[in-house]
Amino acid sequence: MYDFIIIGGGILGMSTAMQLKQAWPDKRMLLVEKEAGPARHQTGRNSGVIHAGVYYTPGSHKARFCLEGNRATKAFCEAHGIAYDSCGKLLVATSELEMRRMQALWERTAANGLEREWLSAEQLAEREPNITGLGAIFVPSSGIVDFAEVARAMGAEFERLGGEIRYGVKVTALEERSGEVVVNTGGDAISGRYLVSCAGLMADRVIRMLGQNPGFTICPFRGEYYRLPARHDRIVDHLIYPIPDPAMPFLGVHLTRMIDGGVTVGPNAVLALSREGYRWRDVSPLDLARMFSDPGILRVLGRNLRPGLAEIKNSLHRRGYLELVRQYCPSLTLDDLEPWPAGVRAQAVTRGGRLVDDFLFVNTRRSVNVGNAPSPAATSALPIGAHILGKVRELVEG
Ligand SMILES: Cc1cc2nc3c(=O)[nH]c(=O)nc-3n(C[C@H](O)[C@H](O)[C@H](O)COP(=O)(O)OP(=O)(O)OC[C@H]3O[C@@H](n4cnc5c(N)ncnc54)[C@H](O)[C@@H]3O)c2cc1C
Repeated sequence: MYDFIIIGGGILGMSTAMQLKQAWPDKRMLLVEKEAGPARHQTGRNSGVIHAGVYYTPGSHKARFCLEGNRATKAFCEAHGIAYDSCGKLLVATSELEMRRMQALWERTAANGLEREWLSAEQLAEREPNITGLGAIFVPSSGIVDFAEVARAMGAEFERLGGEIRYGVKVTALEERSGEVVVNTGGDAISGRYLVSCAGLMADRVIRMLGQNPGFTICPFRGEYYRLPARHDRIVDHLIYPIPDPAMPFLGVHLTRMIDGGVTVGPNAVLALSREGYRWRDVSPLDLARMFSDPGILRVLGRNLRPGLAEIKNSLHRRGYLELVRQYCPSLTLDDLEPWPAGVRAQAVTRGGRLVDDFLFVNTRRSVNVGNAPSPAATSALPIGAHILGKVRELVEG
């Protein structure tokens, strides 16, 4: 019998496992991951941005954990010899409407306790000669890292302290009893006193396995990227973001410097035709049937038909995608958009058709489950793990 079983070898599972083992070095712990290695889904397929915490509702889990996570991620990288770069971020306004939205963001950054600087069009042109805009907000604490490397280091730390990791083990059923949780893995049954699940795109399904109705369904939104050719590796010094539409804050492709020295453009947001569907041709009839019979997801799609269709058009036609980034980086051409792997975001949607904005956790008597952990959850992985540790401690101490 294990004391704790953790499901999910992404950055949240690894961070939580590491912190549980640091808190209770003598307890037996097992982490199971269905893939052959760590970080094969969201954690290994993202923009790699250590977010500062610009957009999030003051006082929310996102705002708090992102601010803490920004510092904690950098400190973890320092301690473990992982490369990161505090390159800073520019939020660039390209129209009068965006200038007004920029003012609102300026106030939000103050409420979230961020250091920042207001740049005029001239100051922006001085700092970033290849970027044009009417003005910008500079946020120095944003950075870049490879989150898969961070997750691997957390997993290594968990193992060093005596934790066990099994890859290629998919959890197919769960049974919560009075003194244990039985974890079925397609044949084998493993027992643990307590369970933590950090199952990303499968979060709702794992919670259902515990006999709970999570009250939401995970809707998979694919984010597609391009990479610029190596001659453009120094086209920008900072991360360049458009000013988001507050109604659809996750839309808007950005220019992202990566820790390997390259620059990507993206991501967009199109409905994925399978929970782990990284290309248009990855279609799961079962996932599709479930999505199109879910009243919440149908409401979201119905309400966002126009922007949704525009995202699909730009996904299928590179020229449309290019125009999005040319709004602030006009020198780029079609030849500059080279293929790059996509990621799929796990976004919880309520039955009423609301995109769950904040991080969400679902607890039972013997388990703590991550329900909704979209961006900036990679940045926030250390505080989220600490939060889960606190919840587990409450369960253990009764
Ligand atoms: C396109 C994109 C861009 C993003 N950009 C950023 C960014 O720049 N900065 C940032 O902070 N965040 C970003 N994010 C968000 C961030 O990547 C995620 O919030 C974070 O990686 C979530 O980690 P996780 O461990 O919850 O999920 P995952 O990494 O998806 O891990 C979940 C794991 O659970 C496993 N699993 C699921 N079901 C089972 C089962 N039944 N049995 C066993 N194992 C199972 C899966 O195989 C998977 O490995 C981005 C996300 C995407 C998709």
